[in-house]
Amino acid sequence: MAIRRAVIFLGPPGAGKGTQAKRIARLCGVPHLSTGDMMRDAVSRGTDLGKAVGPIMQRGELVSDDLVMKMIEERLAQPDCAAGCLFDGFPRTLPQAEGLDRILERSGFGEPLVVDLAVGDDKLLRRLTGRRTCSVGGEIYNVYDLPPKVNGICDNDGGKLVQRADDTAEVVKQRLAAYERATKPLTEYYRSRGVLQVVDASVSMDEISRALGEIVKCAEGRNGHL
Ligand SMILES: [Zn+2]
Repeated sequence: MAIRRAVIFLGPPGAGKGTQAKRIARLCGVPHLSTGDMMRDAVSRGTDLGKAVGPIMQRGELVSDDLVMKMIEERLAQPDCAAGCLFDGFPRTLPQAEGLDRILERSGFGEPLVVDLAVGDDKLLRRLTGRRTCSVGGEIYNVYDLPPKVNGICDNDGGKLVQRADDTAEVVKQRLAAYERATKPLTEYYRSRGVLQVVDASVSMDEISRALGEIVKCAEGRNGHL
């Protein structure tokens, strides 16, 4: 199945974006693109861009939009992107969205398909603050939705279940507010261009996957490529 489009997933922390991006990319047979992976790949292959971003990453500094855009353009020119691709975690800002649109245009992809995974804040708070990770095997539980048989103890290996420091209610609220501030201009931009679809991501992972699969499949024919 070829979608011949760039699909962009937007969604707050806790919406399941990363998991869904991997699933849908596999379903559609298109590469799942994250800028982190792209940069690590360029560094390990020793490309000119890799040589430029390597030292910046090593210093733990932010790589400029300019370099990120160049990397994306190079990545889109590779043969495995011919059938389309799926962006996860990019763009994050309005200038990045505008830059990506220009690249997609130049690379012959046309307009992206943007899907916003929408979840209410109450639900996100439950998902994120309820999350516990096994300190032994790394299994993930949720005290509300997927509790262990014994409180605080992993079912598989008896490991102690711990909460990540950034999953406490206070920090989660800050993360959600920061996401909202950063992303609002982005969703407005895509909505005004008529390329934004919204999916209810408050339901189960499998239900979200089904809805996303439908949307991405329906988009196949729209550019007249299939
Ligand atoms: Zn465990």
